[in-house]
Amino acid sequence: MANDTPGNNNHQARNHVLASQADLDPKDRPIVDLVEWCQQRGNIVALQSGLILTTEPTARDVQNCKALLVNKGYKPGKVMEATPQLITLMLANVADDDEAQQQVDVQEDEISSQQKRLRILVQEAVDADVSDIHIEVRPEVAKIRFRKFGEMYLHAEWFPRLGRELASVAFNKETDHATAHFNPLIPQDASMPLQVYGSDVRLRLASMPAHGGFDVVMRILGVGDDTKVVTLEDLGYTPEQVYIIKRAVHMPHGAVLLSGPTGSGKTTTLASCMQMVKSTRKVYTIEDPVEKVVPTVTQVPVNSDKDDRSFANFGRAALRMDPDYIVLGEMRDEDTANVMIRAAITGHLVFSTVHTNSAPGIITRLIDMGLSPTMLSDANVLVALIFQRLVATLCPHCNVPLKDAPAHKEHMERWHAVFGDNVEYIRARGGCKKCNNIGIGGRSVVAEVIWVDDTGREFIQKVDTLGWQKYLRNQGWQSYRDRTLETVIEGKVDPFDAETLVGEISIHSAEAGFDYTRIREDMENEMAREAKKPPQ
Ligand SMILES: [Zn+2]
Repeated sequence: MANDTPGNNNHQARNHVLASQADLDPKDRPIVDLVEWCQQRGNIVALQSGLILTTEPTARDVQNCKALLVNKGYKPGKVMEATPQLITLMLANVADDDEAQQQVDVQEDEISSQQKRLRILVQEAVDADVSDIHIEVRPEVAKIRFRKFGEMYLHAEWFPRLGRELASVAFNKETDHATAHFNPLIPQDASMPLQVYGSDVRLRLASMPAHGGFDVVMRILGVGDDTKVVTLEDLGYTPEQVYIIKRAVHMPHGAVLLSGPTGSGKTTTLASCMQMVKSTRKVYTIEDPVEKVVPTVTQVPVNSDKDDRSFANFGRAALRMDPDYIVLGEMRDEDTANVMIRAAITGHLVFSTVHTNSAPGIITRLIDMGLSPTMLSDANVLVALIFQRLVATLCPHCNVPLKDAPAHKEHMERWHAVFGDNVEYIRARGGCKKCNNIGIGGRSVVAEVIWVDDTGREFIQKVDTLGWQKYLRNQGWQSYRDRTLETVIEGKVDPFDAETLVGEISIHSAEAGFDYTRIREDMENEMAREAKKPPQ
C-alpha cells in the first residue's frame, strides 16, 4: 500500500489478518499463470504485485509459491495472512479467456460458489459501512466502486467475467422475483434479501446498459434488525430544532411535513421521530420500500408504481385501522396530499415527505399539487415544516487548517468577507487511510425547522413564502443556509462541501441581497490574484 516504507516488511504483524479487498491495491489481481496451482490448494493466491495471500503463512506451499513466482519471472513480495473468504474472491477474479481454468469448477458448484462470492462482496460493503455498491462492467475491466458518505471510491478491479457472473447470479438467484432473468441490454430493478454470515441484509438492485457493457447498483437498505436508536441530535439537528420537532410529535393531530432531495436521509429522520412516539399509540407507516425496521410500529410496504398499491390507497386503508399516527412515505400527487389533509383534520397526526428546496417551499409545492391555501392555513392542518439536506463532514484524523489547503487559499478573501476572523476556525479536507483518502468522516443533517403559528398561517393564506421567510429571520429563525455556514465555522465541514449545498459562500447571498457595489471590487481582487500567478 501507499504508506509502506522500505525496510518495514514486518509491520504486518502475524495477528493482522486481511479480510477485505479494501486492504489491497484495487487494481491488484491474481497472476493468471499461477491461478490453477493456487486453486488446487484453495488457501493461497499470488497477486501481480508479488503479494502472496494465504490462510497459513507458515505452510510449505508459501515457499513453493515463491519459487514458482521466480520461475515465471515475478518478484515475490510480502506474505500476508488473509481470510478464506478474501482468497476465494481473489481466486475468482481471473480472465475469461483461460479455458483450462473454467473447467476446474463443476457446473453445480459454480452456482453456489458465485452466490458465495456475492455474499463476500456484500459483506465487504457492509463492513466498510458503504451505502451503494456499483459494478461497472466494460469490455476490458469490471470496476467495483463503493459509495460512502456520498462519494465514490474504487474498491476493486475485476476481470469482466466475474462482474457479469455476479450480476446475473444476483438478479437470477437472489431476488424476490423468481421469474427474474438478468438482461444487460435493458434497465432492470429488483429487491434482494440476502443472508450474509448470519445477518439479514436488504438490498435494492438496479441495472442499466452502458456503452460496451452495463452497470449494476446495489443499494444497501438495512442490515439485520438494525433497531438501534438514532436520535435527531445524532443526525445533526440542533437542540432548538429537536425541541420543536419533539413538540410536534406530541401534538394530538395535524401534519408534520419533511422535505429534501432524494437521498437526504428523510427516511432516517422519520424513523427517529417514530421512536419518540409513546408505546400507547398506534402507528402505521406506508413505505416504498420499508428501509429501516422500527419494531414499535406497523410498517406497510407499497409499490408506488402500481395504482392499487399506492400511497393514497394504503393511506386511506390505514385510516380505517384505528391509527393515532400515519406516516405517508411520500406525497407525489394530489390524491396522497388529500389523504394527508383528511388524516390531519380527522384527529390524527400525520407525517409525510415532499421534494422541495426549502421548508417554506413545501407550501408552494402543495398548492401546485392542487391543495388550496385556505385549506392549508386551517389551524388543524399544518404543525411543523422541516427541510433537510446532508453535508459531508471532515474526517477527524486528517483535516487541515485552510492555510495548509492549497486549493482553498485563493478563496480566503471571499470567505473572510462572510465569516470575518472566524475564518481561522475553518478546516479543510485532508486524506488518510481511515477515510480512503477522500477526507470525509461522515455526513450530517443541515436543516431548517418551522413551527407553523398564526402569523405563519396568514403568510400561507397569502402564499407569501418570501415574506414568511423574512418574518421568520426577524424572529431569530435559523435557515438551512445559516445552519450550513455554522457547521463550517465549527470546523466540521469543508467550505467547498458547504458550497455544493448552498452555492458560493460570498457576500452576495440571496437573502442579504445581491451587492452590486461590490462587484467591481471583487473583479479587481480576482485580477490581482491572476496577475500574481506564475505563467503556465
Ligand atoms: Zn482521513
